[in-house]
Amino acid sequence: MNELYQEVVTLPSLGLPYGETLPGGQVTLEPFGVREEQLLQKPGSAARRQLISTLLKCCVKDCPVDVDDFLIGDRLFLFMQIRRISLSDQWTFDWVCEHCEERVRDQLLISEATLCGPIAERGEEDEEVEWVGEHEILLPLRKKTVHWRHLTGRDEKAAINSAEQLRKKGLKPREGDPGYIYRMASALTRLDGEAVGFIDAQNFVANLKARDSLALRTSMEIHQIGYDFSSEKECPSCGWMNDVTMNFELEEFFRPKQP
Ligand SMILES: [Zn+2]
Repeated sequence: MNELYQEVVTLPSLGLPYGETLPGGQVTLEPFGVREEQLLQKPGSAARRQLISTLLKCCVKDCPVDVDDFLIGDRLFLFMQIRRISLSDQWTFDWVCEHCEERVRDQLLISEATLCGPIAERGEEDEEVEWVGEHEILLPLRKKTVHWRHLTGRDEKAAINSAEQLRKKGLKPREGDPGYIYRMASALTRLDGEAVGFIDAQNFVANLKARDSLALRTSMEIHQIGYDFSSEKECPSCGWMNDVTMNFELEEFFRPKQP
């Protein structure tokens, strides 16, 4: 019999969004194999378009929660952990200095990346963290109180499908990311305390002024669950301090570059 390598990791959400189903948020992972690798490398394949879902489905073991019901932040965390146990802990990426435009090659260790959300709030003392399913923000211009929730893999899939539908109909989205309004609207649960349906939420989000939209996005960033990939880096050429956010390249996922 094959001895399978497995590793148990703790989700950034600590499993709190999943009620009693996943106490402690511990998930067992297995590395992916050659077969999955071949499948995922095929350009344009459905498996590759759904990369995170495909990997989670093959590498998450005996989990009572459907991987599509995991929060997006938990999914990204698992995705990076699968990369770590399958290939390498080292993630190499480039950033460009905003002052002198020098391209800098950098790397991070996935195992040491900063986590945010309940896992960070718990602290060293293992304090009990209360799960907040909805967050609230007062929009500065519209003076409306918005409640929003964290999105799941299922929401993300629906957003991708909706963007795909728009493209097929030849409709141009307003923003660079075609799923942007859809995602924001899916996250809205209440307006001034009243439950809001998706169509109304979509209209509301589409008509937000920049200042309100920024306030909403900031609230979402503050309560983010998963990784915090942003950091301050000094440019080796000119000494300028840059706010750098690690970027994702699929090629890096499969074929780790040497730093
Ligand atoms: Zn520089």
